[in-house]
Amino acid sequence: MQAPLPQTVFEFMNWSWAQIEPYYNELAERPLAAANLHEWLTDWSRLSKLVYEAYQRLRVATEVNTADHQAEARYHAFLEHIRPASLAAEQRLKEVLLASGLQPAGFELLLRNMRAEADLFRAENLPLLSEELKLSAEYARITGAQTVEWQEEEVTVSQLATVYQEPDRELRQRAWRLASDRWLADREAINAVWGKLLELRCRLAANAGLADYRQYRWRQFLRFDYTPEDCVRFQEAIEQMVVPAALRIYERRRERLGVPSLRPWDLAVDPLGRPPLKPFETIAELEAKCEAMFHRVDPELGAIFELMRREELLDLDNRKNKAPGGYCTDFPVAGRPFIFANSVGVHDDVQTILHEGGHAFHFYAVFALPYYQQFYAPIEFMEVASMGMELLAAPYLTRQQGGFYTPQDAARARIEHLEGIILFWPYMAVVDAFQHWVYENPAAAAQPAKCDAQWDALWERFMPGVDWSGLEQERMTGWHRKLHIHEEPFYYVEYGLALLGAVQVWQKALDDQAGAVAAYRRALALGCTASLPELFATAGAKFAFDAGTLGGAVGLVEQVMEELERDAAR
Ligand SMILES: [Zn+2]
Repeated sequence: MQAPLPQTVFEFMNWSWAQIEPYYNELAERPLAAANLHEWLTDWSRLSKLVYEAYQRLRVATEVNTADHQAEARYHAFLEHIRPASLAAEQRLKEVLLASGLQPAGFELLLRNMRAEADLFRAENLPLLSEELKLSAEYARITGAQTVEWQEEEVTVSQLATVYQEPDRELRQRAWRLASDRWLADREAINAVWGKLLELRCRLAANAGLADYRQYRWRQFLRFDYTPEDCVRFQEAIEQMVVPAALRIYERRRERLGVPSLRPWDLAVDPLGRPPLKPFETIAELEAKCEAMFHRVDPELGAIFELMRREELLDLDNRKNKAPGGYCTDFPVAGRPFIFANSVGVHDDVQTILHEGGHAFHFYAVFALPYYQQFYAPIEFMEVASMGMELLAAPYLTRQQGGFYTPQDAARARIEHLEGIILFWPYMAVVDAFQHWVYENPAAAAQPAKCDAQWDALWERFMPGVDWSGLEQERMTGWHRKLHIHEEPFYYVEYGLALLGAVQVWQKALDDQAGAVAAYRRALALGCTASLPELFATAGAKFAFDAGTLGGAVGLVEQVMEELERDAAR
């Protein structure tokens, strides 16, 4: 008989794989039948949670202090000695469950997913998948090394993005051209990596007995609830319903800036020349005001955020030796979410906390499910939780409602957010349509010039309103600058679909706040025990690709923007 697993993850984090492995082996070898199914799943769940939480805590420790070499060593040791072995052991238990023929309640979709993963598995693809990771890392290495000299300092191309908010148009243009030239200098290098990635992905699909890589990726992403044709329909709906609205936004911006045509370096600056919003001075203020806003959305959600503050599950400031970025993760043994951010005092920081707060409430809701395996909803719905929360909380941005701003500034922040929603969809359509073309036409897509031409044609179709004359090379190589195309093929439409769900949730809340939030929370609590159409429907939305649903969402966003324009002008 083995000793019981530790009650806390902190003890478990010191365990070696030799200590952990017997628990996996025991589960794999324990005779499994209907009578002990619940006990077996509970034990598996407990073990999975410990391994996952140890992994997350070790990772977070390196990110909250990148100078902590001991934390780094522990994390790397985990990645080397425990992570791969535990993934293989998890896979073995999935196979045991599948082989048992048992059908635990709430596992229908999970079993379907496990079967699909087993069907797609080919041993001969393992080295190709490693090769793909190396090529992705090569793309990341090329783009990560892109620096330029700006005002006598070496800065990364991404750091230049702050200059695009400067009121001085000449300065913005110089920065934009500097960044573009730097990208173009890597044109051949990126094309070379692209050719290899494409060839490799076609082989992955062929080895799996599939006609093309799109089919492979669909199965790998477990996309059972929509087809490539649905995505094409969504692109068409975007062209019809969103592109005209985007044009109106660009035209308003052009007028306000007082320029003859909008150039690519005119898109981030405030069109009325106002200084950036300054929502808070201290992190305590950021936390307290977000808490107040969540409380207005729903007192219980506000209480969860308050608990996270009290238990120090928020690390929101930007400081030396902290990793960049923002995210929410979960500690399933403790039953607590954790939010990481790098807040510097701009409105984006507020938006990030509202977004990650939605993810945190999602995690918190699924901790109540019986088994760990049921926790994680598909990304298409996870982002409804987060983007939905951004919209649900937005009405409380004013100081009067517990938030940060005067009514005018709150209106300005909300308009920027809503404009961003409209402008995102057409860009998403370009990225998505481009990849459908690539993997339906791999021979053509192996020629970078044809990719350039295809990207250009899609850009013209979905992204009118900005004047790129004289910037033809820059425009046609836009696909080089989208990381997902190179590193995470086909992973992007998820955000467009989730956004449509989020707007629908918000639409319901405008009529019946309490009812809409209750439905949203019921949907979050389902984890991955329901399909995407069921998750959306429970949240009061339709999982949709059609022009009607999208047109309704666009109409609402435009109508609210108009009302807010009046508030902003007041
Ligand atoms: Zn998110």
